[in-house]
Amino acid sequence: MHEFTSELEELAAKALAYSLERLKDDPPLDGPRSAEDLFAEVGFTITPEGIGGDAALSVFTDVLARACISTDHPRNLAYIPSAPSEHANLFDLVVGASALYGGSWQEGAGAVFAENQALRWVADLAGLPACAGGVFAQGGTVGNLSALVVARAEARKRWPETSRWAVVCSEEAHSSISSAASVMDVDVLLVKPDASGRLIGTDVAREIDNFHSTQSARVFAVVATAGTTNLGIIDDLESVGKAAHDRDLWFHVDGAYGLAALCAPSARPKFNGIENADSFIVDPHKWLFAPFDACALLYRNPELARAVHSQKASYLDALHEGGSWNPSDYAINLTRRTRGLPFWFSLAANGTNAYATAMEKTLAMAQIAAQKIREHPRLELMRDPELSVVAFTRPGWNKADYKNWSDKLLDDQIGFIPFSSHKGEPILRFAIVNPWTKVSDIETILATL
Ligand SMILES: *Cc1c(COP(=O)(O)O)cnc(C)c1O
Repeated sequence: MHEFTSELEELAAKALAYSLERLKDDPPLDGPRSAEDLFAEVGFTITPEGIGGDAALSVFTDVLARACISTDHPRNLAYIPSAPSEHANLFDLVVGASALYGGSWQEGAGAVFAENQALRWVADLAGLPACAGGVFAQGGTVGNLSALVVARAEARKRWPETSRWAVVCSEEAHSSISSAASVMDVDVLLVKPDASGRLIGTDVAREIDNFHSTQSARVFAVVATAGTTNLGIIDDLESVGKAAHDRDLWFHVDGAYGLAALCAPSARPKFNGIENADSFIVDPHKWLFAPFDACALLYRNPELARAVHSQKASYLDALHEGGSWNPSDYAINLTRRTRGLPFWFSLAANGTNAYATAMEKTLAMAQIAAQKIREHPRLELMRDPELSVVAFTRPGWNKADYKNWSDKLLDDQIGFIPFSSHKGEPILRFAIVNPWTKVSDIETILATL
């Protein structure tokens, strides 16, 4: 099985050729098919004798890959798409060929060293102290959960008699916060944002104080969102952080999407107050030009996280000797892929200035798209984009109209823009994270509305 036969050599050439083509050319948009439909075409691919590498590769390249929407297509503006740089994708191939273990310093020192430099860049952008650190976790959901578990452990030390806990966040916060709360079996105290959709410190302070005077449960953390997924709204990090710290509470910032813009000088002031976070997350796989799946999870004081997340088992004893830095100690994970390496390689190769430039480009494109929507006779811009999400409606359309339009847009392979909703009403949104999305791409989509 380990012999690299001439047959494998040929297969490798084919796989590399396919990968290279995928890297070089604009990807096709493609789209989903039903499981029945796919089965009718490929049948059972897992057999006792194996179908052989050639056949399996063909099944993938000819059929299965085409049933996956390219998240990096310049007219895929759905949810939060992706736009990995050529360097990042290329290095993912290297990572894939290298059997690197990213859980411990002992086994992955070189890789972990590089990942940590990438994390340091993010920590410096945010203004965290030199002792800050963390890990590339699987995604924002796991990152948020991992941080909140540490926050609760800290609160337990402070208020050991408490038996019921609650986390505070905005009504506009991402679903992963309530998902984390349900995993942790804690309550969620939702605070209403102001008229512009931002969470404000005075409201947070009032709700917490009111909660503590009427409930037996205790708040253990306040979560602010730095760029809501749906509309790109940034909470008032300065005042929300102060409301938390005035009450000795953990301040976590969920910046899975938006904190990427820390590297854009024009957007940086919007995140003032991030330097006070006890923890935050940002997903390089969203808007920092890295492939799935990578969430940078950072702690102001990583020692607190290590005390909570370090797994103890006799077979792991050797790993913990010498006080070295083990990424598995900073999130809910043990074995982990060195998922931060493609991001590191791209940063190292291109330099951080290129990141600022690419980020400014997407921000500028969002402003251009917003202007084109303002000028469009049938569309209404919902709000000036704060980051790179542009939300709008077509007055008079109902849900079915939006869905039909969106389905046709994908069927025609023009773009992928499923409808979203805001306050129960259907809306459309462009999430622009791809520096290759051009004005003509926006115009092509708007022409169909
Ligand atoms: C996407 C997102 C998440 C979840 O991140 P995953 O990587 O999808 O798990 C959490 N919070 C916000 C604000 C997000 O945009």
